[in-house]
Amino acid sequence: MKSFNFHSIKSVKEAQKLASGKSVYLAGGMTTIPAMKHGLASYSDIIDIKNIKDLSGIKVSSKSIRIGAITKHAEVASSKEVRKSISSLALLADGIGDAQVRNRGTIGGSIANNDPTADYPSACLALNATIHTSNRKIHANKFFKDMFETALKKGELIETVEFQIPTKSSYEKFPSPASLYAMVGVYVAKYKSEVIVAVTGAQSVVYRCKEIENALNSNFSASAIDGVKIKSSGLNSDIHASSDYRAHLIKVLAKKAVTGCK
Ligand SMILES: Cc1cc2nc3c(=O)[nH]c(=O)nc-3n(C[C@H](O)[C@H](O)[C@H](O)COP(=O)(O)OP(=O)(O)OC[C@H]3O[C@@H](n4cnc5c(N)ncnc54)[C@H](O)[C@@H]3O)c2cc1C
Repeated sequence: MKSFNFHSIKSVKEAQKLASGKSVYLAGGMTTIPAMKHGLASYSDIIDIKNIKDLSGIKVSSKSIRIGAITKHAEVASSKEVRKSISSLALLADGIGDAQVRNRGTIGGSIANNDPTADYPSACLALNATIHTSNRKIHANKFFKDMFETALKKGELIETVEFQIPTKSSYEKFPSPASLYAMVGVYVAKYKSEVIVAVTGAQSVVYRCKEIENALNSNFSASAIDGVKIKSSGLNSDIHASSDYRAHLIKVLAKKAVTGCK
């Protein structure tokens, strides 16, 4: 590992002052530290944001849940408020990696990293999330650009992620046996005026599956998905699963999610 300067800071202002083209924010470190250890990434300055109090905590209102960026997956999974208002979100957090990862990894780190197989990006799309940053508010639809690429500008810090509480929702994933990341994951959220279906793991970036959304907007039942055709062209194909298999999984998981919606 190459040498670097380490900064443990207490405010968003300090974070922004220190940020440069060669720095990185350190939240849970679950992605950054292995990447540095393996020589895949190197930085001049590591800015540890774990002690910024303003970035922690969970706030629930009648319409939304706001989760601080440094909130760990285990905290979301065990939060009584999250379980009560959006139980599918707590279950999603509970299914991320293993206990060690859930006790270090953070929601801000997960969405800033935007791994194409990560779970939280699908929750952000399906639950109409707004990402509040040090500079602005970004709707989830505009946040996830491509594989490991987001709308964040250099030095921009995610402060909170705000999810709109749906009428009912559910998340189903088929985990890769090796990494536990989603081979495919499908998040279904039903609102008064629309149904949103977000898919992770199947393409280079999380996306909304309009074909299944259209079917569920006319008839919110698992059987409505039977007639939907999911094209395998454009879907990921690798040693874990072919694109045909992933296309099949999308329908199977979407049906399971609709059945499990609460
Ligand atoms: C073995 C293993 C299994 C895993 N399994 C899963 C899984 O099943 N599902 C899943 O979704 N994820 C999984 N993960 C990913 C993990 O859950 C973390 O979410 C992820 O590693 C990043 O979060 P972090 O807090 O560790 O971020 P870090 O590693 O600290 O940072 C990652 C990136 O995000 C940036 N960043 C961090 N916080 C902010 C912020 N507030 N604002 C702006 N940028 C920020 C950093 O600068 C860095 O570029 C797994 C990881 C491991 C190591």
